Amino acid sequence: MPAYDVIVAGGSVSGLLAAREAAAGGLTVAVLEEDSEVGTPEHCGGLVSIAGIQHLGIVPDANAIENTKIARAKILSPSNGFEISAEKQNVMVLDRRAFDKQIAFQAQKLGAEIRVRCAMRSLSKDDSGYIVKTSEVDFTCNYFVDARGVASIIARNREGVLQSAQYEIYAPWIERDTIEVAFDSRRYPGFFAWIIPTAQGSGKVGVAGKGINAAEALQSYIDEKGKHSVVRKVFAPIWVNGPVKNFVSDRTVIVGDAAGQSKPTTAGGIYTCGMGGLLAGRAVAEAARKNDDKLLVQYEKNWLSMFGDEFEKMLLARKLLERLDNKAMDELFSAVSPEKLEEVSAHGDFDFHSAALTKILGAKSAARIVKALLGNEIRRLIDNS
Ligand SMILES: Cc1cc2nc3c(=O)[nH]c(=O)nc-3n(C[C@H](O)[C@H](O)[C@H](O)COP(=O)(O)OP(=O)(O)OC[C@H]3O[C@@H](n4cnc5c(N)ncnc54)[C@H](O)[C@@H]3O)c2cc1C
Repeated sequence: MPAYDVIVAGGSVSGLLAAREAAAGGLTVAVLEEDSEVGTPEHCGGLVSIAGIQHLGIVPDANAIENTKIARAKILSPSNGFEISAEKQNVMVLDRRAFDKQIAFQAQKLGAEIRVRCAMRSLSKDDSGYIVKTSEVDFTCNYFVDARGVASIIARNREGVLQSAQYEIYAPWIERDTIEVAFDSRRYPGFFAWIIPTAQGSGKVGVAGKGINAAEALQSYIDEKGKHSVVRKVFAPIWVNGPVKNFVSDRTVIVGDAAGQSKPTTAGGIYTCGMGGLLAGRAVAEAARKNDDKLLVQYEKNWLSMFGDEFEKMLLARKLLERLDNKAMDELFSAVSPEKLEEVSAHGDFDFHSAALTKILGAKSAARIVKALLGNEIRRLIDNS
């Protein structure tokens, strides 16, 4: 049986970053990816902050930044809406296929082996370590990293799952530098519809919501927008309930979407899941180097100290969204003053957006509506606005 220090199941952003960091720490690493190509099937809008990907140790392509940088976000309620400038937030749209391959290349250069079309089937343990059974051969390893995405978490708990549909479309109404987020509690309960442009006249348009037929909801959203051609359809579950309780158990670590590390507000996870992989890979390398498995917990501590507080606030914002009906949503939107929008445009942070929400919801008339819906629970979200 081939033996490695570390086996990573799942060859996407979080798994590949865990592999890169563990290999950088001198460990032998294999990444198992069930699909026949790294970066596919792509189920992502690719919207990410440039600072976020740099923090993951990846240099974004200058042309891609130039061509996909977002200038503004239109945020809509059923009969209202406002616009935020995104110029200062430095947000771009990634080609996820190319991005994942870029990380795979980094990991491979540091010695990690990547095996595509190799699905992990089971994990067991004996005296010599873990045995990972796969669709190819069986492996042994000392440390196991679960980076299998939402599929892994929903095998354990389906509660925080929403169905999403996202189509790649060509349509004259897609503006190259403008994202759109549309709330409607009847059509997309607990979530929203979105447009993420990839070029003038092309982009990714999606919806998610609790208990909805995502394909039907998305079709009516794009039909109402106007003429279009759909060139790719993706249906994927998203997880919005925040991080799982323990990221580490024995010599197994869970990273990325498998650990609930995407944002409870938007399900965006390139940065936060990527950081999960990066921190886990470093902790595994450190634990192996010092022969001290207690150091694995440092991964969980580090991730929570970066994102724990922010995710708690996002979970509160999610609770609010779930309780707003369309009338309250329209009222809330009309309570947002131009001054608050200017403040948010000037100081908003794409990766830690609870501060922007705090500002918007903390405006006097908005706060009244929010407090009526959530009472004391919401204090943590709006009181320091
Ligand atoms: C429709 C949609 C749009 C999104 N848009 C954005 C966005 O614009 N911005 C953003 O930041 N985030 C977005 N996200 C979220 C983002 O895609 C994820 O958070 C991120 O990809 C999580 O990375 P991951 O490595 O943890 O998991 P995944 O990317 O899900 O990767 C898991 C990998 O594991 C593999 N795998 C699964 N089971 C096995 C097995 N048994 N053996 C071997 N391999 C296996 C899969 O093939 C896959 O490659 C979006 C998600 C969806 C669904």
